[in-house]
Formats: sequence, structure tokens, C-alpha cells
Amino acid sequence: MINKLPQNIYNAQLKELYAIHQSGRKPRLLLHACCGPCASSVLVQLYDYFDITIFYTNSNIYPASEYTRRLAELKAFLPHFNQDYHANVKLIEDVYDPQAALKILAPHAHDKEGGQRCHLCYEMRIRKAMAYASAHHFEYCTTVLTLSRLKNSRVINEIALKVSQDYPEVHYFFSDFKKNKGIDLSIDLTTLYDMYRQDYCGCVYSYHKNSESTK
Ligand code: SF4
Repeated sequence: MINKLPQNIYNAQLKELYAIHQSGRKPRLLLHACCGPCASSVLVQLYDYFDITIFYTNSNIYPASEYTRRLAELKAFLPHFNQDYHANVKLIEDVYDPQAALKILAPHAHDKEGGQRCHLCYEMRIRKAMAYASAHHFEYCTTVLTLSRLKNSRVINEIALKVSQDYPEVHYFFSDFKKNKGIDLSIDLTTLYDMYRQDYCGCVYSYHKNSESTK
């Protein structure tokens, strides 16, 4: 377990992947994912190194129909990915509890996107994933959230570092998935697999902000 983030997170990510490759084994990784487009790029970046299970824990998403749509898209994509990449990625859905998420997010309803509300939202989901990984004996855990160009990867990793102190038996895989054209890869894969890509981040606040800006 580390207690300080590396200066260059992307280099640390590559070093860790190299060490795993050298070990000749594929450790089990629980991957928090919020949608198919973000998961697709991260899966291509990681499937050679890990035995991956996706954990869909996204109680922040509003409305429920959108939560279901993103999950359905991810479920539909996975068999194609597994076939095309000769992979065996599995998917687990967490309980959808939007009321619990609102209790955390509502006091920060007026925060700017990327501010404290989002930090709490990242923490909520990373903590859920780390707790599940710990309870089910995964060696590694990480999130696709660092793929987004609208999210600060360093902040997400700082939050994950804090959460990981409570789960010392699970290695948190520090990442900067947007680096090295990770986003371009996501855009290409979304087109290739004809996936739905949402136009707002997820919560009710980002939903209304997006609706206002498109009026
Ligand atoms: S904008 Fe996105 S990251 Fe921020 S609170 Fe809403 S859903 Fe979570």
C-alpha cells in the first residue's frame, strides 16, 4: 500500500503494468465503470494484464431510466468485446440507491462541475468498489473515471489513495487512462460498437445544467 501519490501517475501506471506482465500471472481486478464508452477504452488498456470484473456502482445517475440505459449498453457491449479480444470480462451490478446518493450530493447542489460535489461522488463510488473488492478478495481495484477529459485525474487518485487506506488488503491501481490517446480510443470504440454516449455526466444537477444549455 502506498501513502503518497507518484508525481507522474501515468508512468507509475505503465510501471505497474510492466511488473504484472513480468510476473506471468493475471491478478483479479475489480473495475468500477460508469458506462460502456468509458469502460471500452479502459478494457482495451487493461485486459492483457488483469482478470477483470466490472462493478457498476452508480447511484448518482439520474433518472433511473438513464441508469438502466447506461447499464444495458455496457451489458450489450461486453460479449462483443470478449469475443473480439478473446477476453473474459465479467459484470456485477451494485444496488441502485439514488436516495442515498442524493443525501451526499444535495448539500452541494450548486457546486460547479468538478468541485466538491463531484469529489464526494467519486469517493462514494470508489469506496463502494473498494469495499466490494475487499469483501470478495480481489487483488486490485480501480475506476474508469480518470478517462474523462472533464475530470481531474490527480484529484480522483488522491481520493482513491485516501479510501485505499481503509482497505489495505486491496491494491488500488492508480491510473490516468485519458493519457496516450485514451479518450480517442474511447471515441473510436464507441463508434465501432455503435454504443450510446450520454451528453451529461450523470447526476440530477448535471442533467438540468445540460438541459438548460441545450435550450
Ligand atoms: S457532475 Fe458527475 S461527477 Fe459530479 S456529482 Fe454529478 S454525476 Fe457526480
